[in-house]
Amino acid sequence: MREKEKTPSPENVRVEEELSSCPRCGYETGFHVAFRRRVRELVVFLICPSCSARFSVGEWNFPTGEPRPYDPTIDDA
Ligand SMILES: [Zn+2]
Repeated sequence: MREKEKTPSPENVRVEEELSSCPRCGYETGFHVAFRRRVRELVVFLICPSCSARFSVGEWNFPTGEPRPYDPTIDDA
C-alpha cells in the first residue's frame, strides 16, 4: 500500500541557460527558496510562487553547523 506523501520530493530539472520560469505553469518571475533537512544538512529547493510545484536543480545543500555526534574513531585519535 502506498503511503500518503505529505510533502512530495522536489522534481529534478535540468537548467539549460537559465531557470527563472516554472516548467509546470510557465510563471516567469522566479521561485521561492525553501529548505529541507537531511540529517545534518539542509537541502535547498525551489517552490513556484504560482503553482507551488517544487523543483531541485541538483546537489544544492550545506551543513546545518550543528555539532556531529561523538565519534570515537575521530575524537579519540
Ligand atoms: Zn508553477
